[in-house]
Amino acid sequence: MPVAWVVWPVALWLATVGNLPLWQRLSGLGLTAGGPALLFPVFGVLAALLSLLAWPRLLRPLASGLVVVAAFNSHFMWQYGAVIDPTMMANVVHTDVREVRDLLSWSLPLALLGVAGPPLWWIWRRPVGWRRPVAQIARNLAGVGIGLALAVAVAVPGYPHLASLARNHKPLRYMVNPLNTVYASARLVADQIPQQVQALIPVGEDAVLARPVAAGGPAPLLVLVVGETARASDWGLNGYARPTTPELVDWQARQGLVNFPDVTSCGTNTQVSVPCMFSPLTREQGGDRPGRHENLLDVLQRAGLAVLWLDNQSGCKGVCARVPSARPAPDPALCDGDECLDEALVQGLDQRLAELDPARRARGTVLVLHTMGSHGPAYFKRSPADRKPFQPECTTVSLADCPTEALRNGYDNSIAYTDHVLGLTLRWLEAQARSGPFAPGLLYVSDHGESLGEGQVYLHGLPYAFAPAEQKRVPMVAWLSAPLQRASGVDPACLGSRAAGPVSHDHLFHSVLGLMGVQTAVRDDTLNLFRPCGT
Ligand SMILES: [Zn+2]
Repeated sequence: MPVAWVVWPVALWLATVGNLPLWQRLSGLGLTAGGPALLFPVFGVLAALLSLLAWPRLLRPLASGLVVVAAFNSHFMWQYGAVIDPTMMANVVHTDVREVRDLLSWSLPLALLGVAGPPLWWIWRRPVGWRRPVAQIARNLAGVGIGLALAVAVAVPGYPHLASLARNHKPLRYMVNPLNTVYASARLVADQIPQQVQALIPVGEDAVLARPVAAGGPAPLLVLVVGETARASDWGLNGYARPTTPELVDWQARQGLVNFPDVTSCGTNTQVSVPCMFSPLTREQGGDRPGRHENLLDVLQRAGLAVLWLDNQSGCKGVCARVPSARPAPDPALCDGDECLDEALVQGLDQRLAELDPARRARGTVLVLHTMGSHGPAYFKRSPADRKPFQPECTTVSLADCPTEALRNGYDNSIAYTDHVLGLTLRWLEAQARSGPFAPGLLYVSDHGESLGEGQVYLHGLPYAFAPAEQKRVPMVAWLSAPLQRASGVDPACLGSRAAGPVSHDHLFHSVLGLMGVQTAVRDDTLNLFRPCGT
């Protein structure tokens, strides 16, 4: 069959059926009139792209790839209201088997079959008739020209429509299949290239301990818990109608635990937020972009402290590259294969602490627990059967198919389990203060929030500029034992009285340095939460 019989029908199919979620969204916004102004340019650009790829042994595999990508994208747009932008692509690249397993559902093969099946059959049904190279180049260029001409011919008169769409409905641009993926992949590759040739920028080379621990005296022991997908609005301590944090409420009443109700995350996904939390740069300064700087853990280690990253999730996103790290031991009571409940992080802490370099430990220790938290969409997997206070629970990953109440129950059970894990950690820390020369403390903050169907959006990872508050508002708590209060000079009552103000991930780097008594020129005390109350 002639090359054009592959290029034009496949481009048309991609522009129409391959973009059903986009057309659906447009009509949902009452913008059907803008449809043709967008449809023909998309069709033209796709035809131009396919014409460019029209070479023997290339066209059919690449066209098939684009068709399958469009089908995958459509599925995730339908299921979760997701859009495909560069950070979402970064997530896809850095994901692991467990995350993928959680996202699979029966509707995926159906979407693949319905959206990708017919064009795949069309592309592969008969051999393509190729011409001599020079003639093929001419044909391809003609195809590119006609495709682009069509796009321009419609886009120019439709410009007012398109411009207002682009201005008022930015997420739509990330819904154009499969061009969104082509663009995001290209951006991702372009971002990686300079990063690899540029050297890492050292941070805090002057870091020293401002208040060295007296020989045999209590050394600071901070457990820094990196939460996952916990959102501020479902946090009992923040006044949520359901008791999702009973243990922390108790610690607040009896032990002076401080809750921070107004905390903003740096990103809307793990890939952006986790490095940003540990970055010396604020979000404004570029902490949310792929980092070239050393981070908080490097500075702590350089100051002579013991640092350990314990990971119960998809890795530390480069943050722990130069410090010791480990995964929890696979206890069959807490783990299903390689996937463990967060209690597994707490279980081995005695041994982990004992194994750290004694000279460093005597100066101070920071243990980072990277939790699984409320990682979706399989919220029901984030809490054990005997810790599910909210019933019934959604047990499918097709979130839109779940009754809102059941979805909320599964999610809130994961928050309640996080509360339990934090309670266990706090009790472990308290025991360390009694048994050894330690001055323990805990800091918990989630990496980003989650959408649970508000505005038909699920999960997280929408581009920051237009992500809803549910994805950006996160819970945070701090607890300082009496020995740590003495060592750092921080008064928890003062901290509690100031906690209501706005806080963000920007504060973490400087606050941890302050609490651990690390002095360096990069520490900015205007971003040190503890500064006004002591250290
Ligand atoms: Zn995350």
